[in-house]
Amino acid sequence: MRFHVITIFPEMFDSYLKESIIGRAIETKKIKVKFYNPIDYCTPKQRVDDRPYAGGPGMVMRAEPVLKVFEKAFSKLKVKKSKIKVILFSPSGKKYDTAYAKKTAQKYTDIIMISGRYEGIDARVGKIIKNWKLEIDNLSIGDYILTGGELPAMVLIDSISRQIKGVLGTYESLEEERVSSSEVYTRPEKLVYKAKSYKVPKVLLSGNHKLIDEWKTKVK
Ligand code: SAH
Repeated sequence: MRFHVITIFPEMFDSYLKESIIGRAIETKKIKVKFYNPIDYCTPKQRVDDRPYAGGPGMVMRAEPVLKVFEKAFSKLKVKKSKIKVILFSPSGKKYDTAYAKKTAQKYTDIIMISGRYEGIDARVGKIIKNWKLEIDNLSIGDYILTGGELPAMVLIDSISRQIKGVLGTYESLEEERVSSSEVYTRPEKLVYKAKSYKVPKVLLSGNHKLIDEWKTKVK
């Protein structure tokens, strides 16, 4: 899976992509993440943003540099259009979830994500890309407003990558494949903290998987 991120702040991704499971997935070439910066398509005198029509606070990212950098990313892809998914981020978009992550991991080889900043990106960007007969979705990662689309891009990279075979330590540790619970425990069996003791639920020590699964479903 290749992720192509259009952002004016590529450095924001550095430490997240270096560490742990995602870091390893990049190292072992299970996934690839590339960045494209619209600022590279502005002349020294041009800004990447401009004032919104009809007024209002905040600036809007201009269509031209975003489209130019998008074309650059797209022109390098050697796959059929049906293998490419384009994602625009917006708090009012379609709600992102695990089902979407799973489907995306199975169906596509390249995901182009466009991260907005300020008040968002000129709406003509989405319309023009749609005219190119590319599959494009407007996605929200939750009902809150962020300062930009970089965290949403990281959320997608993380959650789609863990659906790709070989990214998690053992494929079986994919949560959706087994009964999972939000209550997990590790050693010690009896935790003594500030003179009080806290025990691991007995059922987890029983070795009875049927009972354990029942318990996990209950505490969910
Ligand atoms: N004025 C816009 C909000 C802009 S937020 C509106 O009311 O819709 C600036 C950018 O942050 C957006 O372009 C988008 O890329 C990103 N963003 C903010 N919150 C988001 C969310 N919940 N999900 C996905 N992207 C979000």
